[in-house]
Amino acid sequence: MIKRRELLRGLSTIPFIGAFTIGAKATSNPSASRNYFQELGLRSYINAAGTYTALTASLMPPEARAAWNYASQQYVKLDDLQDRAGERIAELLQCEAATVTAGAASAITLGTAGVLTGLDPKKAVQIPNDMTGLKTEVILQKSHRVGYDHAIRNCGVNIVEVETAAELESAISDKTAMLWFLNAANFEGQIRDDEYVRIAKKHDIPCMNDCAADVPPVENLWKYTKMGFDLVCFSGGKGMRGPQSAGLLLGRKDLIAAARLSAAPRGNTVGRGMKVNKEEILCMLIALEIYLERDHAKDWALWEHQIDLIHQAASSVDGVETEIHVPAVANHVPSIRIRWDEAKVKITPDEARQALREGHPSIETVGGAESLDITTWMMNEGEERIVARRVREVLQQG
Ligand SMILES: *Cc1c(COP(=O)(O)O)cnc(C)c1O
Repeated sequence: MIKRRELLRGLSTIPFIGAFTIGAKATSNPSASRNYFQELGLRSYINAAGTYTALTASLMPPEARAAWNYASQQYVKLDDLQDRAGERIAELLQCEAATVTAGAASAITLGTAGVLTGLDPKKAVQIPNDMTGLKTEVILQKSHRVGYDHAIRNCGVNIVEVETAAELESAISDKTAMLWFLNAANFEGQIRDDEYVRIAKKHDIPCMNDCAADVPPVENLWKYTKMGFDLVCFSGGKGMRGPQSAGLLLGRKDLIAAARLSAAPRGNTVGRGMKVNKEEILCMLIALEIYLERDHAKDWALWEHQIDLIHQAASSVDGVETEIHVPAVANHVPSIRIRWDEAKVKITPDEARQALREGHPSIETVGGAESLDITTWMMNEGEERIVARRVREVLQQG
């Protein structure tokens, strides 16, 4: 053991505030004692917002962290690991084939590339700026247009927007590479999921469904491949709590093999910058296993209980009203929207969010100019009590 005097002498040579943390480096388990984010001047927070990328979305379960740690300490061939992990994922999710991508957006790009190239690696080299001999259009519904469709355009194709089934049928031509569907917008478009698939099949055109944020419910992991979508994308680090930098591309065996022609380790491809290494691949698989084994009904009951606790605390303040709701498709979890009469509670939702962020502990919430919005599914258990108390305090002080 280091004598206290020696330790102090050591510390005296270390400039100012770093002293404490640098001193702690000497212990046998450095990660347990160093507060890396604090060393960088960053504050962590309770995530009462949800699976937002900017907030780093989710925390991995211990089994997934152990898998990361395991993979980081030994070599394995990247393609072999993708092959085996993909087979295991496909078996778990009852689909033909699967591969781990660098997130759902990466799955969209790689899947699109696979549809364009088929099993010809020379075509993969062409994407995105030499479309000779490749199809050049991807069709989607206008109401399904989101920023994430940039991931399709990365492959050098143009987006064609349609609104009705008749427009869709007449937009299909020999330039059409793929039909794309945004699952979260299922009830906003005029063409629903099953009809969309039926039209794609009729014209023999591959059809992709972006389900990035669409677990829970867990069944969605196999619902859409079974419905007939040729390719289905999920974020790994949202509801499944795998690495935020991972995702899943599920679907037809030939198309998954084709998509991988554009993925690392192959260098001369659109997907080379979307590398997933052994840690992410293994960790994604293990996070998926753990997610599938969860007691989903119990999770749901916990979230309802947590939301109710926050509802009780918020609505105890005079002038405050709450609405408990569950979004129909994406982020399908118990959620609370808190509104108030600003004549009685003299604070705006933006100011309330700021006060929660700046408090101790810091709490991140979402919502617009009209409300303060909270979900509890990305919190650590027990944090709901802190959130309930802080929300009440902030509204009472307002
Ligand atoms: C989050 C999201 C994505 C991107 O997912 P990543 O895993 O972060 O790449 C794509 N599409 C939709 C609809 C999303 O919600």
